[in-house]
Amino acid sequence: MPETLRPYACDPAQSRGRRFAQPDAPTRTAFQRDRDRIVHSTAFRRLVYKTQVFINHEGDLFRTRLTHSLEVAQLGRSMARTLGLSEDLVETIALAHDLGHTPFGHAGQDALNECMEPYGGFEHNLQSLRVVDWLEERYPQFDGLNLSFEAREGILKHCSRRNAEAIEALEPTYADGGGGVGRRFLDKAQPNLEAQLCNLADEIAYNAHDIDDGVRSGLLTLEQLQDIPLFARFSQSALAEHPDLGHAQQARRWLYESIRLMLSAQVYDLMNATQAALDAARPMSVATVRQHPEVLVCFSADMRAQSRVMKAFLFKHLYRHPQVMQTMTQAKQVIADLFTAYCDAPTQMQNEAAARLGAQAPLRRLHDASVQRGVADYIAGMTDRFALREHERLTGQRLFAA
Ligand code: MG
Repeated sequence: MPETLRPYACDPAQSRGRRFAQPDAPTRTAFQRDRDRIVHSTAFRRLVYKTQVFINHEGDLFRTRLTHSLEVAQLGRSMARTLGLSEDLVETIALAHDLGHTPFGHAGQDALNECMEPYGGFEHNLQSLRVVDWLEERYPQFDGLNLSFEAREGILKHCSRRNAEAIEALEPTYADGGGGVGRRFLDKAQPNLEAQLCNLADEIAYNAHDIDDGVRSGLLTLEQLQDIPLFARFSQSALAEHPDLGHAQQARRWLYESIRLMLSAQVYDLMNATQAALDAARPMSVATVRQHPEVLVCFSADMRAQSRVMKAFLFKHLYRHPQVMQTMTQAKQVIADLFTAYCDAPTQMQNEAAARLGAQAPLRRLHDASVQRGVADYIAGMTDRFALREHERLTGQRLFAA
């Protein structure tokens, strides 16, 4: 059944097009095709062995970038359906949003950014676009996956002025005469609604699953979580409705029920607040959505404030937990050591990456043509375990006992 799209949704039949013109697919819309390209990409498969908060070898049940991306896609799709937005585009953006992440989560990104400081820096979000635009090598005619404008617009969530200008310089001329994916950062415009929805689906997903993983790891306790008003409210109502959940052996079910209630409350809050914003603004096209002074997909002011409190709690008690910090310090060392080792001896990289450094591939124009950029691309593409193996091979040190 075709999607029922509202006038403010992205319609695949009205896509602004791809960087390299390609005929339409006979049975799939432009966004379905984008989604399929991502699912078949190498970068997507690597997400299964990339850290979200916990290092991949710490346990089999923690979220990885892959399961996180699937959760974002699930939440995004179900909200898109209700709001009359393109589910396929939301799914595409959700599945691609973390493709540029380094191994070892934010610690990896911080370390690589420090290494790349003199060479234009490293930013995972920009790297996601770089993966789909340049780094995937699957087609004879072009680099990258040649996704539609709307998908690329959603993947590039934030961008500095300098990078936006660099991106714009490489964008094609679109039939409607408008700018490329960097343009909105220069004009302070908004992305399409599907992209806006993915940003918040991402936030809902990681707050909920980091609580789950935090408790599973033993770094957070259910008791401690009662300090988060949003969690406490649902945890107490779960207990009131099912008093058995208070027994120690039911702790896991209590946690899940609390998370489930909290997650649905956030989803419904987002859909109501967004519908109200859309009713007030009455955008009649994607173009008017882009020109609107603010984003239209939003939480209510109260939920926004509560979500902020929860994030602050997780930051302090989970992301900055001494045990996580210790792991992350070692992870940063791995990245820094790899960066130095490959820059000193680029031939230590596998053939394809080394070959890319030697080629005059257009990808190298985005920032610069440096060896360092090629090394950063190579390291960013690694899974946690490949990075650890390479680190051991190149330095003889074993930082994490597997
Ligand atoms: Mg994410």
